[in-house]
Amino acid sequence: MLKERKIRTEIPGPKSRALMERRRKAVSAGLGTALPIWVREAHGALVEDVDGNTFIDFGGGIGVLNAGHTNPVVVEAVKEQVERLTHTCYYVSQYEPYLELAEKLNALVPGDFEKRSFFCNSGAEAVENAIKVARAYTGRPAVIAFENAFHGRTFMAMSLTSKVSPYKKSFGPYAPEVYRVPAPYAYRCPAGKDCSGGCRGDCLGALDKLFVSYVDPRSVAAIIIEPVAGEGGFIPVPDFYLRRLREICDEYGIVLIIDEVQTGFGRTGKMFAIEHSGVEPDLLTTAKSLGGGLPIAGVTGRAEIMDGIHTGGLGTTYGGNPLACVAALAVLKTFEEEDLLSRANVIGERTMTAMREMQRKHPDFVGDVRGLGAMVAMELVKDSESREPDRERTAGIVEAALQEGLMLLTAGQYDNVIRTLTPLVITDEQLDEGLTILARAVDSVA
Ligand code: PLP
Repeated sequence: MLKERKIRTEIPGPKSRALMERRRKAVSAGLGTALPIWVREAHGALVEDVDGNTFIDFGGGIGVLNAGHTNPVVVEAVKEQVERLTHTCYYVSQYEPYLELAEKLNALVPGDFEKRSFFCNSGAEAVENAIKVARAYTGRPAVIAFENAFHGRTFMAMSLTSKVSPYKKSFGPYAPEVYRVPAPYAYRCPAGKDCSGGCRGDCLGALDKLFVSYVDPRSVAAIIIEPVAGEGGFIPVPDFYLRRLREICDEYGIVLIIDEVQTGFGRTGKMFAIEHSGVEPDLLTTAKSLGGGLPIAGVTGRAEIMDGIHTGGLGTTYGGNPLACVAALAVLKTFEEEDLLSRANVIGERTMTAMREMQRKHPDFVGDVRGLGAMVAMELVKDSESREPDRERTAGIVEAALQEGLMLLTAGQYDNVIRTLTPLVITDEQLDEGLTILARAVDSVA
C-alpha cells in the first residue's frame, strides 16, 4: 500500500521518459498527454509512478475514481466475479448483476416514476443511446445542446460537444439537426451582462430566439445538458435555468436528458448533481465513477421512453459486462457504507476555501473560483480587467504542482481552468497537503 507523497527522482523520471520514447514508436500521436508520468499502481488518492514517486491525485482519472483507486470493496467484488464469469454478452444470455445494477440505478435516479436502465461502455456511448431513445420515442429529429458542453468523442456525442480543438477540428461533417444555444456562465455572461452578483439567466432568451429563428420546438426530440459543465470549465448551471428547461420540455413534449457522466456519483455532494435543482430528468446518462475504474456507462430514465424503442434497437457486445456490473454495485455499496456524499461536501468546502484564499492573494490572475460540492475549479486570466484566458499560466501551475507530487487536470474552452476531481476517499492530511502544494504552484506563476 502507498503511504504518502514522495518525490524521489526528477519528474518525469528516467523510467517514465524511456517509456515515453517507446510510446512514440507504438501509440498513435493523436492521443494527448495530460501528465508525462507512467503509473505502476494507485490506491485511494495516491498514485505511484514507475520511478517510485508517489503523487496525490486531484484528477481521479478524469472523475472516474470518486470511490478511490483500487477501492478494496470494488477489488474484492471483481476478484470474486472474474473467476466465475467474465462475459456472455447480455443479449446472448443474461446474468443477475446487470439486473441488480439496473434496479439500483432506477431507484437512485431522481423521479417518482417507473424507470428502466440500459448499460454500455463509455460516456459517449451512453449519450449516443440516450439520443437514439429520445428520437425513437418522440419520432422527432432535432437535439438542442449548449455552448461549453462536452458529451464525448463519437460522432453524435462529438456533434453535441462544443469545443473545436482538439475534439472536433478536421472530423466533420457532424451529425445534422443539432442546435446550440449559449449556456449560463456568470464569469463570462453570454448575454454580455454583469453577472458578478450571480447568474440571472439573461441568456434564457436565446432559447426563445432558437424556437423563432431556427427550429420548431415540436420537431425537437431532446435537450441535453450537463448540470455542471465539466470539460467546459466546471460551470454550474443555476437551478432556475434547469427548472426552465424542464418547463420547456413539458410544454413541447421534449425529452430532457441530463448528462451526469462527470457530475454523477457524489461528485457534487449529492448522488446526482441534478438533485440540487429538484428537476426530474426524463433520461440521465452515467459513466466514469459508476464503475470505480472499470468501464461501464448507462442510460436510466422514464419507463415509457426507455421502452419506446423497438426490441433489438439497443445493444452492445460488452456493455454491462459482469465484471463492470459487480464493480458498479461495489461502488454503490461504498457510497452507502462510507457516507461519501458528506465527504464530498467537506472536500468541496475545504477546496473552495483554499482556492478563494489563492484568489484573494492573486486577484489579478485568479479570475474566478466556482463549483458545486467537490467539483471545484479556478479560472486563470491574464488580468482581471480583460479576463483574457491564461492558458500558459494554467499549464505552469499544473507543471509546478506535478514537480512537487500533486496531479492536477485542466478544463475550459481555453484550457485555462484548474479543476479538482479528487477521490472522495482522500484523507484530510492528503487533501491539505495537496491544497498547500496547489497554493505554492499558484504563487510560483505570479
Ligand atoms: N459526458 C460528459 C459530461 C463527460 O464529461 C464525458 C467525458 O469526459 C463524456 C460524456 C464522455 O465520456 P467517455 O469519455 O467515457 O466517452
